[in-house]
Amino acid sequence: MVNDKEQSQEEIESSGGQVDTIVSTFSGMTDRESVNYQIKQWVAGNPVHNPIRDECCPDFSCCNGKIASVEQRERFAKAVVEKDERTQMEMLGMFLGSAFSDEKIYVAGLEIPSEC
Ligand SMILES: [Zn+2]
Repeated sequence: MVNDKEQSQEEIESSGGQVDTIVSTFSGMTDRESVNYQIKQWVAGNPVHNPIRDECCPDFSCCNGKIASVEQRERFAKAVVEKDERTQMEMLGMFLGSAFSDEKIYVAGLEIPSEC
């Protein structure tokens, strides 16, 4: 787990500072194309913020630097392809929960910790 996280950080840093490139990559894409491209890049370990929709990757890793595991990314992408909205919503809740893991914020649909 620790190694996985370190590797992910490295991947994110190596793709940093390329905002202009990212914006020109997205320019001319339709809304749908931009989402597909963003998901593909994210699954491949290259989280990019979607400038067409001004939207983060499912796990917000383009902006907070904490990328989900490859298993989670692949599972989410599969749910998108299969239009499995239930799995997508569950995972988005989980990603949101872990993005705010240090805060006392609870996401509707997630289990409330027993100490509350
Ligand atoms: Zn973002």
